[in-house]
Amino acid sequence: MPVPARKKSRSAVRRRRSHDHLNAGNIGVCQTCQAPLAPHKACKTCGTYKGKVVLDVTRQAQRLAKNAQPVAHDHNDHEGHDHAKEESPSAKPPAKSKKKKTS
Ligand SMILES: [Zn+2]
Repeated sequence: MPVPARKKSRSAVRRRRSHDHLNAGNIGVCQTCQAPLAPHKACKTCGTYKGKVVLDVTRQAQRLAKNAQPVAHDHNDHEGHDHAKEESPSAKPPAKSKKKKTS
């Protein structure tokens, strides 16, 4: 089985690896809101592409808020609900546990 004739020196390895780096790529700026923006992508901040509105960012914000993980509660009034039941280690993901059964 062929093997390298000799060990590569530390210098040779480092010289080779001097090109093994990533660059940041092109990052543009939104024409409308000046937010940093990938090229050929609509702006997620203001929902525009080349000055035209192409995304409904208000609906996107609503969807993100709806799908967000439930945050820890910050109230001291525990009437009408049981936290021991909510925090029990069940196999259900948190998104399903949000649905209430009507039975
Ligand atoms: Zn924008």
